[in-house]
Amino acid sequence: MAQLENCIECGDELLEERAQLGYRYCTKAPCQAVLYRGVAITAVGVNKSADNFIVADEAEIRRRGEAGELAKKDAALGLDYRDRRAVPAAPVPATRTAQIPEPKTAPHRRPWDAEQEKVVRFYHDMGLNPRQIADRARKNTPRLRIIERLATQIMSAPPRASRPR
Ligand SMILES: [Zn+2]
Repeated sequence: MAQLENCIECGDELLEERAQLGYRYCTKAPCQAVLYRGVAITAVGVNKSADNFIVADEAEIRRRGEAGELAKKDAALGLDYRDRRAVPAAPVPATRTAQIPEPKTAPHRRPWDAEQEKVVRFYHDMGLNPRQIADRARKNTPRLRIIERLATQIMSAPPRASRPR
């Protein structure tokens, strides 16, 4: 069994991790008050079962607090934070923007308008072929400029979804 250190103030056994860090006194408030050596012991309520004690100078505590680290419920705060301190703080990644593709609201852009389609489908339902449709449309609705090729395109496309405006 490893030799346990005892608090030089109250004589209680020190936590092994704490002893390994070189502390000679425990975390009880009276011992802290007597043996304060320029470090602050901050109890952080990481979970309900046990407070985790971190040892840091005030600037470190402030820096970590400002970074939101101390607020994380499940942050791995503990005595090993000194190892991770050597790693420079990573900048907040800014990659969440501008990678959402434009929504495709018009999957197939049709080079004709609803009125042209309405007329073509009307004639098509009558049994006319594209050439006949173009002839009929040229006489009855010349402003729609329905030609045979357009009639073929409209008839081969799926019906336009009726979307009330
Ligand atoms: Zn003590």
